[in-house]
Amino acid sequence: MQLPFAESYKIKMVETIKKSTREDRKQWIKDAHYNLFNLKSEQVFIDLLTDSGTGAMSDKQWSELMLGDESYAGASSYYKMKKSIKDILGFDYFLPTHQGRAAENVLFSVLVKEGMIVPGNSHFDTTKGHIEFRKATAIDCTIDEAFDTSVMHDFKGNVDLNKLEKILLNNPIEKIPMIIMTITNNSAGGQPVSMQNLREVYAMSRKYGVRVVFDSARFAENAYFIKKREEGYADKSIKEIVKEMFSYTDAMTMSSKKDAIVNMGGFIGFKNEDLFKQASVFGIMFEGYITYGGMSGRDMNALAQGLNEGTEFDTLDTRVQQVAFLGQRLKDFGVPLQEPFGGHAIFVDAKRFLPQVPKEEFLAQTLAIELYIEAGVRCVEIGAILADRDPITRENRFPELELLRLAIPRRTYTNNHMEYVAVALGNVYSRRNEIKHGVKIVKESPIMRHFTVELERL
Ligand SMILES: *Cc1c(COP(=O)(O)O)cnc(C)c1O
Repeated sequence: MQLPFAESYKIKMVETIKKSTREDRKQWIKDAHYNLFNLKSEQVFIDLLTDSGTGAMSDKQWSELMLGDESYAGASSYYKMKKSIKDILGFDYFLPTHQGRAAENVLFSVLVKEGMIVPGNSHFDTTKGHIEFRKATAIDCTIDEAFDTSVMHDFKGNVDLNKLEKILLNNPIEKIPMIIMTITNNSAGGQPVSMQNLREVYAMSRKYGVRVVFDSARFAENAYFIKKREEGYADKSIKEIVKEMFSYTDAMTMSSKKDAIVNMGGFIGFKNEDLFKQASVFGIMFEGYITYGGMSGRDMNALAQGLNEGTEFDTLDTRVQQVAFLGQRLKDFGVPLQEPFGGHAIFVDAKRFLPQVPKEEFLAQTLAIELYIEAGVRCVEIGAILADRDPITRENRFPELELLRLAIPRRTYTNNHMEYVAVALGNVYSRRNEIKHGVKIVKESPIMRHFTVELERL
């Protein structure tokens, strides 16, 4: 018999989580204006809002905290992080930042000016926010297959080279400060980009003289999928694959709260000293001196260790298999999902789940509210609320996909928790026809509204 899936770690410390009643939850979500970001964490039993900063650090990472060097300049922790970034990712220069969006803020302060165009594969919301805030435009060149949840494709995160080339051909090249490759492609469902696609985009960038920047939050999961799915990589180690991936870029931004398995942190990696120096000016202004940039020494130590663990095959195998376990159980209940399953999350296709709810009533958000009331499971809408309004026309944007994201924190929950979530959403699916209406917006902020939006049920 084939041996079953089992985690590549055991548990040394636990944290209590609390169940609640349906009546409690109905009141709490109402008090939260039907925005799950407004819930208190103790009102949540299983929190799948995000896999960002919610992972469990290892005993080795906790040990590294004690060894942190909190010197203002030249701390040993800075050099530990520098060595880890050089050894694992191959960058000679880096700037620490307090998280991923801070890395974007610092780098884009150098690169992005009003009127510019930034093509890529489904820019993440903070990335898009930092581009649009500078009155530039993000253009999505992801392959069409990514937008049909029922089509199987090994690398739905890929860029469509024809779409990209059209943009490079039809715009003055000085208006395109970079191509952003998001690995994995978060907005399209945690979908990987193939090595071949990374190589081809890089080749095209050399042809046109444009910089490539990787938005690298889940680069290790991306490497895992390359190993599992792309020809010629089955026998390569994750670290070898990672090295090759980063050979096809000029710079990277990183939210270390994902694949580096820390609670807070980020950085920018540079191949070019000149760009590093220009960015350092903004880094010092926004984040802190270049040898700590918004991070404590202890956190830089934990990050250095986390990069190493996060690129171990067993860590990734445990993680991706747990995500797939949840996906398979949901599929058993008939819940419509984005397939193949992503690396960090399961994405429920809300349009296929609730076809009777009009898109103007925010159906993915409606589903998130229903799941919370059903079982105290918190997850997040990746749909029209997140897509926000068009910066120029101020009209609501309705993306092709309305998704409910169940993001799985790293090393945090057991498969019994996943089973609980699957049954909860299965129950909502059984009574889906009773859900006739969604929600309307009563209050919203001008940018990144999803964090603070207030809603009413219709
Ligand atoms: C999380 C994330 C970011 C932003 O990072 P923060 O640490 O949350 O600021 C940027 N890009 C991608 C792809 C991400 O997943």
